[in-house]
Amino acid sequence: RKFERARGRRRSRGFKVILSIMDSRKVGVLGGGQLGRMLIEAANRLNIQVNVLDGTAAPAKQISSHDGHIEGSFKDAAAVKRLAQVSDVVTVEIEHVDTHMLEEVSKEVAVEPHWKTLRIIKNKYDQKKHLIDHGVAVAESKDLEGAGEQSFKEVGNEFGYPYMLKSKTEAYDGRGNYVVKSEGDIAAARETLGDRPLYAERWANFRMELAVMVVKTKDGVKTFPVVETVHEDNICKLTYAPPRNVSKNQVAKAQELAKKAIGAFEGKGVFGVEMFLLNDDDLLVNEIAPRPHNSGHYTIEACPLSQYDAHLRAILDLPIPDSGLRLREPAIMLNILGGQTPDSHVQIAKKALDSNASIHLYGKGDARPGRKMGHLVVTAPTLAAAEREIQPLIDAVDSQKG
Ligand code: ATP
Ligand code: MG
Ligand code: MG
Repeated sequence: RKFERARGRRRSRGFKVILSIMDSRKVGVLGGGQLGRMLIEAANRLNIQVNVLDGTAAPAKQISSHDGHIEGSFKDAAAVKRLAQVSDVVTVEIEHVDTHMLEEVSKEVAVEPHWKTLRIIKNKYDQKKHLIDHGVAVAESKDLEGAGEQSFKEVGNEFGYPYMLKSKTEAYDGRGNYVVKSEGDIAAARETLGDRPLYAERWANFRMELAVMVVKTKDGVKTFPVVETVHEDNICKLTYAPPRNVSKNQVAKAQELAKKAIGAFEGKGVFGVEMFLLNDDDLLVNEIAPRPHNSGHYTIEACPLSQYDAHLRAILDLPIPDSGLRLREPAIMLNILGGQTPDSHVQIAKKALDSNASIHLYGKGDARPGRKMGHLVVTAPTLAAAEREIQPLIDAVDSQKG
């Protein structure tokens, strides 16, 4: 009888575990920064296990306790292979990954989005060519990889000044971009960007920058609302949902362009599409991120489903009702960057405790100037009310810059 009782207890315990699992498939993610961390916040609510490949102290690992995490770099092929072995679907929170290893492991596990998509997008010049081939408008560009000084001058003659010099690879937060203001800048630009593979882009005289999170599922392409993004020193500072002073018609056009752009790629998941709204109201795609994106953070508070919920559901083929992607209330997001002192980002977060802002701190170690340390989101019945609420926090951020 004792034996029977013990077996019964064991059985009922096992039963409980199974009932509480939404989906027994395990997600593996390359990279455990803030995007991985917020993906885990979403996965935790569904009780879905996410295995993170990154260092031990990575922000994503800090909020996830199980034995499926992999220690190592998302750039290390052997570590990617180990991640794949303990996961059913492998995804990324960063595009600067080894797509050859992902191609190999895709024979064993699902990789979303498709490794081909990651390979094209991680090279900004290839990405641009791919978009042009699919009829998506982008800024005109010229390949300058391995080119001599003369070619840089010819680009200046053709595009005029300023033009934007960009590294094709490993670029983020503007690290990899150089504004060439005149022929006299060329030497310094080449010196600064070093031996990185380069290309040039015609200057986009934009009125405003817009961004849209697009969700690609097994059935098609859906979008979140359009946001206005404001960059300072090449880093996203603020997003406004909805954008200020943009007509409904323009917003609809931006959503259509973003859908067309993402329709040109294979695989599932959320994608960030950055766009320029030009003075003549034309739209150009600036670049695409094959993952959750800074411009989509606001969705956590402002939409029924966040970009992280949507990414998980898309890669796991779980339902995503259109109504989940709508804007519940206008929202403004403010990034908290590392400042002049190691704790200046904490000071901003503390100040925000006295407001209605939702506070996100990423749990990153060292605050270097310009490093993304956290963000704040204010939602309100009108954008004007949200602007009033967040203004003291913008002032605090600005005053720290000195
Ligand atoms: P991210 O962190 O978004 O990946 P990134 O390093 O890849 O940034 P880009 O998106 O290429 O950089 O450029 C950063 C910013 O520089 C843009 O948001 C825009 O403000 C400006 N910019 C980029 N390309 C151009 C262009 N062709 N003309 C004018 N401004 C540009
Ligand atoms: Mg980029
Ligand atoms: Mg960008």
